[in-house]
Amino acid sequence: RAKRSPTRKVVVFEPSMDADRMARLEMERDLLRAFDAGEFRLAYQPQVRLRSGEAVGAEALLRWLHPEKGFVSPAVFIPVAEEMGLIHRLGAFAMEAACREAAGWPGGLKVAVNVSALQISAGDLVQTVENALGASSLPPERLELEITESAFVDDSAGLNETFEALRQMGIRFALDDFGTGYSSLGYLHRFPISKIKIDRSFVTGVPRVGSSMAVLRSVMALAEGLAIRTIAEGIETREEAETLRILGCDDGQGYLFAKPLPADDFVSWLRAGDTETRAASA
Ligand code: C2E
Ligand code: MG
Ligand code: MG
Ligand code: MG
Repeated sequence: RAKRSPTRKVVVFEPSMDADRMARLEMERDLLRAFDAGEFRLAYQPQVRLRSGEAVGAEALLRWLHPEKGFVSPAVFIPVAEEMGLIHRLGAFAMEAACREAAGWPGGLKVAVNVSALQISAGDLVQTVENALGASSLPPERLELEITESAFVDDSAGLNETFEALRQMGIRFALDDFGTGYSSLGYLHRFPISKIKIDRSFVTGVPRVGSSMAVLRSVMALAEGLAIRTIAEGIETREEAETLRILGCDDGQGYLFAKPLPADDFVSWLRAGDTETRAASA
């Protein structure tokens, strides 16, 4: 990051810096190639109601299966795609694939699609969503957009319009990684947020982590006061699931229930899912 610092005036040649730059350029080229070659897929991670164990939807997560490197994490390629501007096409691809695949799911399950703050500020999100819904015939009520607090940093006039347009279409918003970003809570009631997604860092190890318990309790109180639903991410143990259920958290997602699954496997998981097992594990 220091390399990009605007205060740096003298660029000293460092072999390591050059290697970093080369690697970055190579990754950018590779991403463009991969996009054209169709190497991206979505995986779906189930979201369950903690009280009943019933599946209520899934989060769509981008996967890049590289022909030589194998699986490349979105935590690595999303930031690069954002910097090079590819996030708009990649985001549109994810939106279309998620809506198309979710349209075939049984029982009106919801699909949650991650949206980059850049897609919102660029103003092309409404069109992207309209296209995806139009092509798939997915009812807008079944689409949820996961945004992070960074979406509110650039609080321009266009931001309100974008949220309002999407809300009027019947689309809902979940605030992802809640608790890790900016602590201003004003946007919770200024924007149509219908769900808080509690970050995994407050889930791991509860109830034994006292500080996390304190955060969870206050998030639950906040959500209840604002009539916002809650979902906890990264639930790995029965103990964590049980703790969150007792604290009043509505839904959960995590390896305890299922890892992110290829589209076909998600549908099989749904079919095979006997709710009793899931309720028992929750
Ligand atoms: P996120 O939206 O917060 O997604 C949750 C991440 O936690 C996923 O990582 C998921 O696989 C992982 N996870 C789920 N359950 C567990 C668990 O029980 N334990 C642990 N340790 N991890 C769990 P993943 O798939 O690697 O995605 C990382 C991030 O990449 C996502 O974080 C999201 O910010 C971003 N991302 C993924 N797909 C997209 C996309 O289509 N568009 C955008 N803009 N970002 C995406
Ligand atoms: Mg997410
Ligand atoms: Mg998250
Ligand atoms: Mg996260």
